[in-house]
Amino acid sequence: MQNPFENAMKQLDKVAKIKNFSEEFITRLRQPDRDIRISIPVKMDNGSTKIFEGYRVEYNNALGPYKGGIRYHQDTEINEVKALAFWMALKCAVAGIPMGGGKGGITVNPKELSKGELERLSRGWVRKLSDILGPKKDVPAPDVNTTPEIMAWMNDEYQKITGDKTGAMITGKPLDKGGSEGRGTATAQGGFFVFEALKKELNLPEKCKIAIQGFGNAGSYAALIWSKAGHTILAISDSKGGVYNEKGLDIEKLMKYKKDTGSLSGFPDAKEITNEKLLETECDLLIPAAFENQITGANADKVKAKAILELANGPINPEADEILYKKNIPIVPDILANSGGVTVSYFEWDQNLKNEHWSEKEVFDKLRPILEDSAKKILAKSKESNTDLRCGAFILALERIEAKITL
Ligand code: GLU
Repeated sequence: MQNPFENAMKQLDKVAKIKNFSEEFITRLRQPDRDIRISIPVKMDNGSTKIFEGYRVEYNNALGPYKGGIRYHQDTEINEVKALAFWMALKCAVAGIPMGGGKGGITVNPKELSKGELERLSRGWVRKLSDILGPKKDVPAPDVNTTPEIMAWMNDEYQKITGDKTGAMITGKPLDKGGSEGRGTATAQGGFFVFEALKKELNLPEKCKIAIQGFGNAGSYAALIWSKAGHTILAISDSKGGVYNEKGLDIEKLMKYKKDTGSLSGFPDAKEITNEKLLETECDLLIPAAFENQITGANADKVKAKAILELANGPINPEADEILYKKNIPIVPDILANSGGVTVSYFEWDQNLKNEHWSEKEVFDKLRPILEDSAKKILAKSKESNTDLRCGAFILALERIEAKITL
């Protein structure tokens, strides 16, 4: 497994060479403000106690309270969390929201835990970190394998410890517990707004053929939103593999099938496809919506999409970036493409602090112009410096952070 933090720093170095940022500033951004590792003892259902390793990385708060999700995964480790926290700092800057960057995680396969064990683990994470969390300090949210229900447990635990009743210490909560309308679909919906804003620039046809890697929160809603808009989803996968139909998949049926059977495999009217092959699908748009380091020096050459939109964080490594650039395959970078999630998280935080509840229409009416504006600015930055969209996004983000940071 490649070190995602090293990759993130390579991206930073590349941009520092293109644009003249001060050396002090770039040096400062090579380290998080703090990275915290905790051990969480959990009483298991069989009476034993198991210790889990957890993390919170507070990368930078020049623009506002640290903000970013919590990932539960068996491969989660500190370098992954550091990379994700760094990208959060840039992502919030790209979106122009008053939030800094953070990320958390626990090394665990949550599918192996009972619901009670999962709840005790989640509450344990908050107990160890309650001093540093808070609406004006550090505001977590969901990420891979963490759900609104988990956010509600965490908020409840925080409330018990601190007495804070705003609910603004964490976002992505269920609707009846202070969550925002639209937060569940926001990452995919935001990606779609960005896609629409850049479609012409990317030379994409009116109706696209699309392959999506990942069937979690981002991937499954992306499939639904793009197909409802008349595009064709040729292929989609989850962690175990995927399905392909050259005429297009019926996404609503597929969602129901996955819910009923727990898997995509065996879905009628479709061929099975591996995750590896999915990335090589001939299509207009490839949407990686799963994990880091999926497209690397080892397979970038085989990508046949006309353009890529990163709904996952860090799915393309720096080596692959170079190969795809030479192949003329534009990449809409993660810190723009998936920033709809954290932007609606910010809306949730704002609603909690003002004791308001906005309609889904209000939420998306506010989200769309933010993303269109960021997309436009990033395009201009990349053209100005004769570079790719990722560097354009980094330049916009770094300029915004540099303007506010105290060195
Ligand atoms: N985990 C999401 C991301 O990577 C959302 C973070 C948030 O809402 O704070 O952007």
